[in-house]
Amino acid sequence: MKVLFVASEAFPLVKTGGLGDVLYSLPHALRARGVDIRLVLPGYRALLRQLDEIRILGWCDVRGAEGIVSARILETRHPDFAFPLWVIDCPTLFDRAGNPYVSASGQDWPDNAERFSVFARVAALLAEDALEIGWKPAVVHAHDWQAGLVAAFLADQPERPKTVFTIHNLAYGGHFSHGDFVRLQLPGHWWSPEGVEFHGGFSMLKAGIVYADSVTTVSPTYADEICTPEFGYGLDGLLSSRRYKLHGILNGIDTKTWNPYTDPHLPAHFSAGRIQPGKRRNKQALLERFLPVVDEAALQAPLLGLVGRLVEQKGVDWVLAAMPVLLAETDARFVMLGSGQASYEQKFTRLAKQHPERVFVEIGYDEPLAHQIEAGSDLFLMPSRFEPCGLNQMYSLRYGTLPVVFRTGGLADTVVDVSEASLADGSANGFVFDTPDHEAFVAAIRRALDLYRQPAVWQRLQQTGMRQSFDWASSAGHYLSLYAF
Ligand code: ADP
Repeated sequence: MKVLFVASEAFPLVKTGGLGDVLYSLPHALRARGVDIRLVLPGYRALLRQLDEIRILGWCDVRGAEGIVSARILETRHPDFAFPLWVIDCPTLFDRAGNPYVSASGQDWPDNAERFSVFARVAALLAEDALEIGWKPAVVHAHDWQAGLVAAFLADQPERPKTVFTIHNLAYGGHFSHGDFVRLQLPGHWWSPEGVEFHGGFSMLKAGIVYADSVTTVSPTYADEICTPEFGYGLDGLLSSRRYKLHGILNGIDTKTWNPYTDPHLPAHFSAGRIQPGKRRNKQALLERFLPVVDEAALQAPLLGLVGRLVEQKGVDWVLAAMPVLLAETDARFVMLGSGQASYEQKFTRLAKQHPERVFVEIGYDEPLAHQIEAGSDLFLMPSRFEPCGLNQMYSLRYGTLPVVFRTGGLADTVVDVSEASLADGSANGFVFDTPDHEAFVAAIRRALDLYRQPAVWQRLQQTGMRQSFDWASSAGHYLSLYAF
């Protein structure tokens, strides 16, 4: 079976979040099951610089905002990818410094509507083998709003491939104005509430939901949640009416990259069968990064880790509200790596200055440090208000670092709260709170810190998480049956 993946990022070439991880792991898991894959990506400057073996497949001329835009289609073999990548090289739209979606000052690129409508137009042409290279997919699998128009462009085509659209995060809707719609000469019949129209403008995410044959999202609980007003961003009515074609399929993780027994970023390795002394050495090395001297008290004290985007979704304000309480009440230390909203960055930086012995903060994006925090911490804080799937809680389970999470989305589907019953049946692997506020979050951390002083129980919880299987095999199986249906 031939499947064309269309997405705006893929690890390790370009990644701003979990989407990039999935676009690396899922196509590889499918390929391992015999699927013939091509992955289409935009030709960002940073991506083009990483390519060397390039072949030109051809040119596609499509409508842009001011007339015809010519895109060169490159095929490349990259050592990290077991299948060919197709890169849409269109320098005026993609060859620029910085982030795929926002400028250096954090503003959306003003031409995002054009960038991702051209991207989708070209991807749809490739799906129809417009370049006549003899590779015609049975399925096109498009991801998030950046690829939302692909299914819409294909919808009217005769003998088109089946279209699958995956929502990785409903919060990012790809909203643009009616002016953009007109300028880009998008088909007039899309302009209706049953089409792409959304609150006076249009939404590329909505286009994916309306026009794809199947819609998926990245956990079963999130699939239910997005059909409710609380989580639906105004699309809950539409999603409820399309519940028949909406599927929640839990993401896996890349168990090769995230393996505490082999991880090259770690100073010491460990496994479920022998957690210590390896995990302790990781904790020590992590503390040594921030402290001139690491004494026994610091090593014994619980270390609470956090890695992620500093945005409201991630419950960062609850973490900030919890910190003074925890610093006053307990001997816990706190290590955080992240970047995002400037006010959050400043607050964490200030906290670290006030408590240099106990609060360690690194603002930025740092892949090795993310691994070291997962390995060296005792608890991982992930109090997301909503979480489509979440990867970090699965990484932390695998690294013997017990997650503290709000009961939502993929967090609810992967973390089993410690209770008498879950301890008895051996399913407990972390701490879950049910009320969306910082007090409930603090209460969950208190429960965790109580158990931290019971090493035998703690180790059992660690082992439960470390032995769980979060690989992509079962998710890939679900996607395959969806493709075949
Ligand atoms: P989201 O996709 O909403 O950002 P996920 O938990 O699904 O959240 O995935 C986040 C991914 O990005 C993980 O692989 C995580 O390790 C990584 N990540 C997030 N922030 C950073 C950072 N500052 N440095 C390194 N990796 C990060």
